[in-house]
This record gives sequence, C-alpha cells and structure tokens, in this order.
Amino acid sequence: MGTDWDVVIIGGGAAGIAAARRLAGSGLAVLLLEASQRIGGRAWTVEVAGLALDLGCGWLHSADRNPWVGIAEASGFAVDRKSPAWGQQYGDLGFSRADQKAAAEAFAAWHERLVAAPPQSDCAADALEPGGTWNGYLQAMSGYLSGAGLEPLSVADYLAYDAASTGHNWRLPAGYGTLVAASLPPTVAIRLATPVEAIDLEAAGVSLVTRAGTISARSAIITVSTAVLVGDTIRLPSALDEWRHAAAGLPLGRDEKLFLEIVGNSPFAPETHVLGDPRDARTGTYYIRPFGRPVIEGFFGGDGARVLAESGPAAGFAYAIDQLAALFGSDVQRRLRPLVASNWGRMEHVRGAYSYALPGRAAARDVLARPFEQWLFFAGEATHRHDFSTAHGAYQSGIRAAEEVITAIEAHAP
Ligand SMILES: Cc1cc2nc3c(=O)[nH]c(=O)nc-3n(C[C@H](O)[C@H](O)[C@H](O)COP(=O)(O)OP(=O)(O)OC[C@H]3O[C@@H](n4cnc5c(N)ncnc54)[C@H](O)[C@@H]3O)c2cc1C
Repeated sequence: MGTDWDVVIIGGGAAGIAAARRLAGSGLAVLLLEASQRIGGRAWTVEVAGLALDLGCGWLHSADRNPWVGIAEASGFAVDRKSPAWGQQYGDLGFSRADQKAAAEAFAAWHERLVAAPPQSDCAADALEPGGTWNGYLQAMSGYLSGAGLEPLSVADYLAYDAASTGHNWRLPAGYGTLVAASLPPTVAIRLATPVEAIDLEAAGVSLVTRAGTISARSAIITVSTAVLVGDTIRLPSALDEWRHAAAGLPLGRDEKLFLEIVGNSPFAPETHVLGDPRDARTGTYYIRPFGRPVIEGFFGGDGARVLAESGPAAGFAYAIDQLAALFGSDVQRRLRPLVASNWGRMEHVRGAYSYALPGRAAARDVLARPFEQWLFFAGEATHRHDFSTAHGAYQSGIRAAEEVITAIEAHAP
C-alpha cells in the first residue's frame, strides 16, 4: 500500500499541537486532522466585549515546570505570575473566618487520611468523615479539581496528581487558548472540519475514513478525549478494545464556566474571589475582576456543572447572579450582564472537561498511553500518569507520542 502521509495526528488540541511541533522538521510528512472548525480543543479563548476569556484551560498549573510558559515567553506572550485569589473569601462574605478555617482543616484532614490510610476501595468518598459538616465543601472542591464528586474518584489517581503538582499557578492575559492555537507550526499540513469517522488497520499502516475521503498513513497519533474514544463517533478496530476499556476507566468530569460583565459602579474588587455557598456541593466559585478587568468568571464542577449545562445558559447566569447578590447585596443584580458560558459536556468532539480515574483504575492511564504496534500512538491529557487533566500534561503526552512515532518509523525503515 502506498501511503499519503508518514504520520496523521487526529485532533488539534494541546496534545496534537505538541506532537505537530515535535514532528515539524523531522523530515516526516505530517498531517493534522481536526474535527471542529478551529484548533485548540479544550484550550479555547473567546473574545467577547473586548475581553479575552478562556472557556477551557486558563491556569498554567505547575507553572514553574510547565512547558507552555517557555513557549509563551519565546513567542512574546506575557505571563502573569501573581498568585491566584482562590482560597480567599473576599470580605469573609457568607463564610466567616472561623468557618473558612474549619473547612480548610476538614479538607486537610481528609487529604491526610487519603495519604496515611488510603481506603482499600480506592474510593475517595470512603475517606470522608460520615456526616461531616464540611462534606459538601469537600465535594465542591472535588468538582473543581477533578470534575466529579468523591464517589467515583480513585484515591491513587488523585494523589498522583497532587504529589506532582508544584502549586505554582500563573496566567496568560492573552488567554491560554490563544497561546495553544498560536503554537501550531505553520509548516504542518492541517485540515479543519474533518472528523475521522473510522480507523482501519492495513498491511503497511492505517487508513482513516473521513467524509472528504480515506487517508492512508504509516502511523497515526490519536489525541481525542476519553469520552470520544468510548463514544460512537470513531469506529475503531477490535484490536483496540483494550484501549477503549482503559478510556472507560478514565471518564471525563464535568466543569463549566460562565462569564458576567460588570457594568458601572460595583463593590467588586480586582483579583478577589468568593465561593457562592461553602456548604453546597454544587456551588459556583467566582473569580472577580481577573487582571482588573470588568468581568467575573464563574466556575462549576461535578454535579454543579452538569446541572448548569442541562438547565441552559439563562438559568446558569440567573443562578450565578443570585449567588453573588446573596453575598454582595441585591443591588449587584443591576451591575451584572451575562457574557458567555461554556457547554463542554455537549460539545460533540470533546464531551466533558477533563479525565479522572474510577476507583481501582489509575493504571488505565499507562494502558491508554501504550502504542498499538508501530501503527497507532496515543496522546492527550488522560494518557499522562500525573499531569492528567491539564494542558501541560496534554502537551507532554503529545511530545512523548511523537517521539515514539519517530523511533518506530526509524526502526521499520526499509
Ligand atoms: C472548563 C475547563 C477548565 C480547564 N481549566 C484548566 C486549567 O486551568 N489549566 C489546565 O492546564 N487545564 C485546564 N483544563 C483542561 C485542559 O483544557 C485539557 O486537559 C487540555 O486542553 C486537553 O488537551 P488534549 O489535546 O488532550 O484534548 P483536546 O483539547 O480535547 O483535543 C482533542 C481534539 O481532538 C478533536 N477531535 C475529536 N474527535 C475527533 C475526530 N473524530 N477527528 C478529528 N479530531 C477530533 C477535538 O475537536 C479536539 O480539538 C480545563 C478544561 C476545561 C473544560
């Protein structure tokens, strides 16, 4: 079989773009196929009312070892190194000092139980104190961190991320999505709006079925989300059942954002934060005037994100404005205007926010990351053993997969 390309990268998110960067200049013929109309995937900055708003990733987590920081600096993007305002409740509104201390202690005690005496079930909810006053708070935190409550969450997986995190979180005023999309090397061929519908194994490579025709390649790097892998948009050969099974152990959590514009005089101080209701597992958390801009970023995790997405943007904005009015006074209702909301759960080619492992399934990340012979390679945030759920984990996985491809092609050179 003659092949059209040496490597086809399926998916143009952070992982696919990283793979393209590593393969550019390798001498291999590389094509990137992206299902949607834009590149970036879950890294997506939209420009609304003159503001750069990140609907997906926004924080350069583990920033002091995050490869996107170096890429940003090399490409002239400003990096904001201020510490985030999360964890502080502006003016102690609705969350007294004593309660903040008690909630933080409950979180620390739960974490300590995970480390010192991890439940045999590997289920993070089994380390909760039965009937604990702050269990709703812990569930809300889990929603933000993992996109799910504690019941479906693997302790081993959660701790792997936590142990590797450096705790430095920086930002990009131009938007994380802007940086990721700008980082695709111009020399790599790309086809947008070209979803791969089926992958077939051939004698000397793979063929990829798209509605614009079938493309043959010596190898492919698959970077799609775990929800897409287990779904029905791509028909995979049965030889990949093990990879699909691994992906099923790493579901995508639910996280959604909404943005409110602040108009006129308001009590909202720059670079501050409030948790809507510290006792409610579904509560929104609100970052107020990031970079001093007239905007509030609401973030919802787990069940809160699911309810928000299902009830639609109008109900979501109303809920967020009500939560803020309960803390800042009803006058702020006149000062807040809906701007934009995400709906990652309903985006056909993503279907969620970021991956977590089910209890007992943390090792599925290693299974998912394994190549299938010299034909198929896997990248994407879910394949990273400890930096999963992030854009830098996705980046590193793309580099790894690209290097595996280069090695495989060299090893099988005629
Ligand atoms: C609300 C939210 C907040 C987040 N916050 C942060 C944060 O602050 N910091 C952080 O580091 N991370 C954050 N993340 C996570 C981060 O955005 C992701 O981990 C990362 O962007 C995933 O990159 P990826 O390349 O693995 O996958 P994706 O970005 O999903 O890329 C996969 C690509 O494959 C495409 N695709 C799917 N099916 C097909 C097909 N059949 N054919 C061709 N292409 C296909 C998709 O359209 C997509 O572009 C957040 C995510 C969300 C949703």
